[in-house]
Amino acid sequence: MSFAARLASELDQFKRDGVYKRLNYLASPQAARVRMEGRGDVVILSSNNYLGLCSVPEVVEAGKRALDQYGAGTGSVRFICGTFTIHRELEAALARFVGCESSLTYVSCWNANEGLCPTLLGEQDIVISDQLNHASIIDSIRLAKTITKCQTAVYRHSDMADLEERLKAARDCRLRLIFSDGIFSMEGDIAKLPDIAALARKYDAVVAIDDSHATGVLGQTGRGTAEHFRMLGEVDIIITSTLGKALGGAAGGFTAGPAALTDYLTQRSRPQLFSNALPPTVAGSALAAVRYVEQHPELVRRLHENARYFRAQLTALGFKPLEGETPIVPVILGETAQAIQMSERLLGEGVFVTGFGYPVVPQGQARVRCQLSAGHTRDDLDFALQAFRRVGAKLGLI
Ligand code: PLP
Repeated sequence: MSFAARLASELDQFKRDGVYKRLNYLASPQAARVRMEGRGDVVILSSNNYLGLCSVPEVVEAGKRALDQYGAGTGSVRFICGTFTIHRELEAALARFVGCESSLTYVSCWNANEGLCPTLLGEQDIVISDQLNHASIIDSIRLAKTITKCQTAVYRHSDMADLEERLKAARDCRLRLIFSDGIFSMEGDIAKLPDIAALARKYDAVVAIDDSHATGVLGQTGRGTAEHFRMLGEVDIIITSTLGKALGGAAGGFTAGPAALTDYLTQRSRPQLFSNALPPTVAGSALAAVRYVEQHPELVRRLHENARYFRAQLTALGFKPLEGETPIVPVILGETAQAIQMSERLLGEGVFVTGFGYPVVPQGQARVRCQLSAGHTRDDLDFALQAFRRVGAKLGLI
């Protein structure tokens, strides 16, 4: 069988298994309602556009201005051919926003995470990771283990007793790094940062939090998990996060922490050393997004009002969304086929919400994951809820 024929046969199997992903093409900016090719206008309930900034004129215009001022890009790696002053401005703004001394941008948070573990950890060190951490953290750890032979451990999801056991077992290591998502993307729950930080103090560990779903979302002014727990700037934690969700939604990520950390990553982290900088358009839009959030904390309040309303109304209809206090509202349906069917029926009703099954989530816990945005109006949410009511009733779910 030829190479292409083998791939095609595996793809056919994906289709038979119901795990084949079809791309939906949008012909308008990302927003609460979008124009989807072949579907017309639909309400989006599956975007990470938490604050609705993807299409805010200030954010879009700033990207255009940066394109005019700096051109398309650096043409190479930052240390080799120079970096733009807007990168420095953005990194200062991001560090201030998340309450850290310094930050360093990457072309994605995937790269920021992948740059962290292999750079910081050696053979005498260990990274201890939450069981439900994002794929980019898992791959960062796998890479570190392969490259540096560092030690690794996984603790049961948000189980502090288990984390403590892992820390005790790692007493002889030189560096103990605890790595956790801030908001867990599939469950929508929040890491127990105060407990993690207390254990880190007790066992002399360093904490890294991936705040990709929490930046712009948690805390009164959207500064993330640390602000949520009133620990902003208090604890010496490393934060990684994305610019591809609440902060404009284009792309890009960053690592924030002590100045020595970002300097060290500039010297040694491979995605920084061997890959181009953020395009100026993206840097410009992200910088404008940070400023916009700082000037509009009411967006964060609206986001949470929308999440509370949607969760309550969904429950009133007879669905059982996972409990929580974040704008990620998963509705567990059971098997993958059920989640896919629900998602397809909802799209037929003009609501785009993605279904997730095994192995992205545990077997038997397939779900549709609803994500709210400050950009949703009450009309958008009521429209979506009516679609849930009709589809839920047809499928015998409520
Ligand atoms: N970390 C978490 C927790 C995420 O949810 C994501 C994206 O889904 C990423 C990292 C990757 O972010 P980026 O799109 O910037 O690579």
